[in-house]
Amino acid sequence: MRFYLTTPIYYVNSTPHIGHAYTTIAADILARHHRQRGDDTFFLTGVDEHADKVARVAAEQGLTPQQYADAIVGAWQELPRRLNATNDFFIRTSDDGHKRFVQAFLQRIYDNGRDDIYPDVYAGWYCVGCEAFKTEDELVDGKCPDHGIEPEWLEERNWFFRLSAYQDALLRLYDERPDFVLPHFRANEARSFIEGGLRDFSISRATQTWGVPIPWDPDQVAYVWADALVNYLSALAYGPGENLDRFWPATHLLAKDILRFHCVYWPAMLLAAGYEPPQQLFVHGYLIIDQQKISKSLGNVIDPLDLIDVYGADAVRFWCARQVSFGQDGNVTLDSFQERYDRELANDLGNLLSRTTAMIARYRDGTLAKASGPGAIDAERLRTALVGHLDRFDITAALEEIWQAVRRLNQHVEASAPWELAKDESKAGELDAVLYDLADGLVAIAVAVSPYLPETAPRILEALGQPVDLSLERVRAETADAAEGIEPAAPLFPRVEEPTPA
Ligand SMILES: [Zn+2]
Repeated sequence: MRFYLTTPIYYVNSTPHIGHAYTTIAADILARHHRQRGDDTFFLTGVDEHADKVARVAAEQGLTPQQYADAIVGAWQELPRRLNATNDFFIRTSDDGHKRFVQAFLQRIYDNGRDDIYPDVYAGWYCVGCEAFKTEDELVDGKCPDHGIEPEWLEERNWFFRLSAYQDALLRLYDERPDFVLPHFRANEARSFIEGGLRDFSISRATQTWGVPIPWDPDQVAYVWADALVNYLSALAYGPGENLDRFWPATHLLAKDILRFHCVYWPAMLLAAGYEPPQQLFVHGYLIIDQQKISKSLGNVIDPLDLIDVYGADAVRFWCARQVSFGQDGNVTLDSFQERYDRELANDLGNLLSRTTAMIARYRDGTLAKASGPGAIDAERLRTALVGHLDRFDITAALEEIWQAVRRLNQHVEASAPWELAKDESKAGELDAVLYDLADGLVAIAVAVSPYLPETAPRILEALGQPVDLSLERVRAETADAAEGIEPAAPLFPRVEEPTPA
């Protein structure tokens, strides 16, 4: 199987917050899972640098937009690195390869013989401070929130995309592919938007210069979505490898605020340019703190890099996947972070490994015998459940399955009381079987949880003297090898003092 997964490209004119980390983490969990299934996988993330604000702030600082973008892109490249995301490429829309591809893509639509791109007059509220049009939504009390001035009504000649011509084709697509957009309530949202009638939209601006020039009219640049969405194709064309035929169509992960652009505009633009529509789209909700959407404008930002500094990347990944059912909105607090860290990571999983390795070291001089007992968890069932949930992007349900197995192993320790068996020479065989079942269950769990906890999983396997092979087929009964030299493992998740929010 081939699996090509994307995050949206993020605007460089803010700094990364937990909302960006959330999408990137979810995407990386899915990408790692598909790799462990043996799928030919390509994972893309990156940044949109052609924002109005970039040009404006650059000018204020006496820099070209490119110089400014080059200076701030580092913080964005650091985000996937610090999260241990395994993206195969990091796209920047200022890359020459991307710009050339956008031009070729728009030219394909322009030349498709159906007049899908045509000139018309765009009218709207224009802020001279921003040098950009503002939508009604962006204005606060009728003024630009950045400049505190009232915008003026301006008209300019733009290029428009004939979205209205694609209503029937899009409805057919949604009818033929019931899982085209998941969760289904998001598909219904997109479908009713299409049914309500589609309006053509402007794909260029004459008032901006920072962007991709329209090939047949270089006085205009491609506007936002006509540039940004195309990254999903362009990255395959000029990124590492000859990947366009190999990986297209893509699976897109996105937050609900950009549903229309991805689930309606983008498939129509692809059809107009003669490409296959996306394979699938998954629309997730927001992580909410104190009932507010996380966004910089609300002054309610958790810096994901700060959290990683305190708890480590694995804990941040775990919390994002576990705390809120993926696809829904949910409330998060730093207290809940600390609570899950202590109870689930340090105690449920960390202590389980410490106890298991300590008992093997103490009762069997560090030797794990291949002495299978009845088994403590149903690893085959776990593997099947993981595939089922993750094929539907349910990273939360899959993690819950894994955690039920962790809890069952903990119950197995209590129920079988190896410390009692160790007192009785005649129960040596029984003790070996219990220790093996525990180690065996932990190996299956380590492999299963490795997409979520990529730093921790290898440490579990190494502590149990097992090869660091993360193929999903190792989530099965009697997966652990006999081993020697097992020592009491250091804590997987050391105690952390809860930081006070800034
Ligand atoms: Zn403004």
